[in-house]
Amino acid sequence: MAKVIVLKGDERSAAKSINELFRLAGGIGSFIKKGDKVLLKPNFLNPKPSSTGCTTSPAVIEAVVKAVLKQGGIPIIGESSPVSFDTELTFKRLGIDKIARKHRISIIDLNKYTSRVVKVKDPLSLKKIRVSDLVFEVDKIINLPVMKTHSLTTISLGMKNLMGCVPGADKLVLHRVGMHEALVDLNSIIKPTFTIIDAIVAMEGSGPANGKPKRMGLLIGSGDLLASEIIGARIMGANPYQLKYIQLSKGKELGEYDIDKIEVFGEKLSDVKRKFSLPSSKASSIFSSLVLGTVPLAMSRMGIDISRIAQKLYDFMRPYPEFLDRCRKCRRCIINCPEKALTLNSHPKPLLDKKKCIKCYVCDEVCIYNCVRVRRK
Ligand code: SF4
Ligand code: SF4
Repeated sequence: MAKVIVLKGDERSAAKSINELFRLAGGIGSFIKKGDKVLLKPNFLNPKPSSTGCTTSPAVIEAVVKAVLKQGGIPIIGESSPVSFDTELTFKRLGIDKIARKHRISIIDLNKYTSRVVKVKDPLSLKKIRVSDLVFEVDKIINLPVMKTHSLTTISLGMKNLMGCVPGADKLVLHRVGMHEALVDLNSIIKPTFTIIDAIVAMEGSGPANGKPKRMGLLIGSGDLLASEIIGARIMGANPYQLKYIQLSKGKELGEYDIDKIEVFGEKLSDVKRKFSLPSSKASSIFSSLVLGTVPLAMSRMGIDISRIAQKLYDFMRPYPEFLDRCRKCRRCIINCPEKALTLNSHPKPLLDKKKCIKCYVCDEVCIYNCVRVRRK
């Protein structure tokens, strides 16, 4: 059985909760050995504070730093924010540089670190991908995502967080080839030793950057990445088996897929489960279920595979992004658009070329001024 620990926690009690989480998971010693170099991978999509539900709480990061140091490990905090964001500035704004100085540990902007191209074994869409060298230089990885909704993948937890190990503009490749498939391919290369989902303040609505904070007061931990993803989805009120990237993870050695083989310790799921409002780009759960879930599944059992047609229909119905008049012309969306579908020139807001747009919503993800709408009409 895979183990997932769900505990109550907040910024003040983070250290106690993190220690308890490791204890219930079998002890930190089962995951980290003395002398291990341990990459702590938070989610720093942008410099917004953790109270917005956008970034990993510094209190959680410091608690994990202390736990690893106590175990005799060498923690290193590493992250690469999207192109046009300065990761080092984000480290400063969020107080991560102070944590690093206090505990005499390294913080590394993975956009500036060396990287290598790695071949994906049995890829779904990505034959090779550039990944930070640090991932392969450390002995262990502790994945520290935030619980959020996501305009493209519906939710964002541990699997999506590892995109920050892909430096710079190479992240955009994952959007171009199909995010769900690419996420599974990426996670087949990067294997975290332990995942702690920061759900002290989660995000609902227009995630992952512009949603509303949702105080859950929870920390979810597991040595099994897929099991933590499935339980995290359940806590958000989502059916994990209707999420395409989770469906594609079955049989990919990313962890336990079968919820009946996942044991939850700590809080009861029924006590902590909450309904998250989804990004407005998402179709109703009934439509998603019919188009991507129940009907294709039933037909595939009869030997008829309509999954490709169903996906095409679903993609066709997804909205194009719209740009609001309050645009500040910062150009982040233009720089990060993987298809170069946006131009600005002398216009007051970005102009969209629908022929080029692949509806990946990176523009929404990188707009810190909340000037992009992806809304179903
Ligand atoms: S839409 Fe947002 S990211 Fe794009 S130029 Fe305007 S303010 Fe910047
Ligand atoms: S305009 Fe936005 S949604 Fe369209 S391809 Fe560019 S980043 Fe993706």
